[in-house]
Amino acid sequence: MPTETFEFQVEARQLLQMMIHSIYSNKDVFLRELISNSSDALDKLRLESLRDDALGADTSDLHIAVEADKEARTLVVRDNGIGMSYDEVRDLIGTIANSGTAKFLQELKEAKDATAAEGLIGQFGVGFYASFMVADEVTLLTRRAGESQGTRWTSDGAGTYTIETVEDAPQGTSVTLRLKPADTEDKLYDYTSPWKIREIVKRYSDFITWPIRMAVEAPAAAENPAGDSADGSADGEAAAGEPEVETLNSMKALWARSRDEVSDEEYHELYKHISHDWNDPLETIRMQAEGTFEYQALLFIPSRAPQDLFMRDHKRGVQLYVKRVFIMDDCEALMPPYLRFVKGVVDAQDLSLNVSREILQQDRQIQLMHRRLAKKVLSTIKDMMAGNPERYATLWREFGRVIKEGLLSDFENRDAILGVSSFASTHDAEAPTTLAQYVERMKDGQEHIFYLTGESRQALENSPHMEAFRAKGIEVLLLTDPVDEVWVEAVPEFEGKQLQSVAKGEVDLGSEEEKKEAETEREKRQEEYGALLTWMTERLGEDVKEVRLSSRLTVSPACVVSDANEATPALEAMYRAMGQ
Ligand code: ADP
Ligand code: MG
Repeated sequence: MPTETFEFQVEARQLLQMMIHSIYSNKDVFLRELISNSSDALDKLRLESLRDDALGADTSDLHIAVEADKEARTLVVRDNGIGMSYDEVRDLIGTIANSGTAKFLQELKEAKDATAAEGLIGQFGVGFYASFMVADEVTLLTRRAGESQGTRWTSDGAGTYTIETVEDAPQGTSVTLRLKPADTEDKLYDYTSPWKIREIVKRYSDFITWPIRMAVEAPAAAENPAGDSADGSADGEAAAGEPEVETLNSMKALWARSRDEVSDEEYHELYKHISHDWNDPLETIRMQAEGTFEYQALLFIPSRAPQDLFMRDHKRGVQLYVKRVFIMDDCEALMPPYLRFVKGVVDAQDLSLNVSREILQQDRQIQLMHRRLAKKVLSTIKDMMAGNPERYATLWREFGRVIKEGLLSDFENRDAILGVSSFASTHDAEAPTTLAQYVERMKDGQEHIFYLTGESRQALENSPHMEAFRAKGIEVLLLTDPVDEVWVEAVPEFEGKQLQSVAKGEVDLGSEEEKKEAETEREKRQEEYGALLTWMTERLGEDVKEVRLSSRLTVSPACVVSDANEATPALEAMYRAMGQ
């Protein structure tokens, strides 16, 4: 096949322009991204060759190599992993598959300053494209395991890229960066310096479970401006001038090390590798279970919700390892759907390396683990609520809508979920309230937790249903998420207090005495208006069930209410939309 030239997708081109002009200040992360991709590729090859004997790939020395050439000003990151076919290169490199890209770029254009832009890029994560922060030309040479032909992709990041077929590519992928001159001149950003490379790998990729190797001219210490030796990890003494191969990372599984041995930064870098997020996580959760079924877990709560959190094919973020060996991504058997935003690693000691998703779903030990992990996440959120309200507020803003789904699916943890939930309320226009706080503020004689569901806070506040409650100073929860319509029907009570919609059935708001008074008053008025009500009920016919007098309005002349056990208008609309 001849060399073909392609144009970058519009979105990719815009993103690349920003990369080339380096609005992201921490350029070092390009290497983290390339190593992360290589690590994934090695994981994939190992798994695929386990499943497919016929693959015929050499898996005897899986590793990543970093090669710097000072004279040529190039940096190569090479792996002997799964590689990519021609079609994969065409589909994966040069396009951006992320569904939120257009929205992201719009926000990026509107970003007020560099910090805001940086925050957005961090949230999006640009992966392979980060190479263009430091390189004015990038060449990717790859051959997929099991295939004979390789593929070369080259671009200067400006507008086009070329793809061609090559005959003699080694299995796996190498990415060659022609470094920008400016970076090589500045000692701090000289990415051909072994000292610099060592530092970046140590900082961002130390936990990677495959060896990351670099050949350096011995002695290594001479390169290092700080005078440290190369960490003692050189693979043997070599004569001066001879290249010596050094392993740059410790490959230690962070989840297997004790808390005080690992820095927060190290945890965060693992999170970034797993999640492809460029931001630090909001919370890190460690778990160790010993005994008959031993496992370790390191879970993370992201600081922002991804764009696709509510899409059907959203991936669950927990990886399964068995005895330090990566087994699968997105292990849905480990986390309930309403905690799908949680990322991390679970390493189990007593599972088969060949375990499949189907087996996992049925495994009793896994089910037990699933329950424990869910409980641990919920208790962490509870602690956060008490110990760090600001962080909790962020969590709830980003993930509250998802967590509330659990009220419908996880009966065992329903109280725990209710306990960590918070809701907008008439009590405070800014800050949401928990149910416990609501109950504390309940008026004497108030038996219910009142709420109203609808589309927006403003619509709810203007609803005629609210009038009597406002007049009496009774707090009402204002529930505006679609899931609210559903869970309020499923949750009967909180701490013995029933939830009651202010839009449904009879709502009584007074003390016993007031009620009696109101009752006499109502009877009197019923007599007075009886004929009118019957006439109205008949006139409105099919559209209403009954027209009755109400004590709930103070300003509006009339409002539509549902029976206590009937769907609200919004829920009816939702069911209709779903075709029910
Ligand atoms: P992400 O890693 O978030 O998917 P990237 O831009 O980093 O995004 O990479 C895009 C895709 O290109 C990867 O998902 C992977 O399929 C493919 N890819 C990148 N680097 C390699 C590599 N070294 N080996 C095999 N495939 C790769
Ligand atoms: Mg990547």
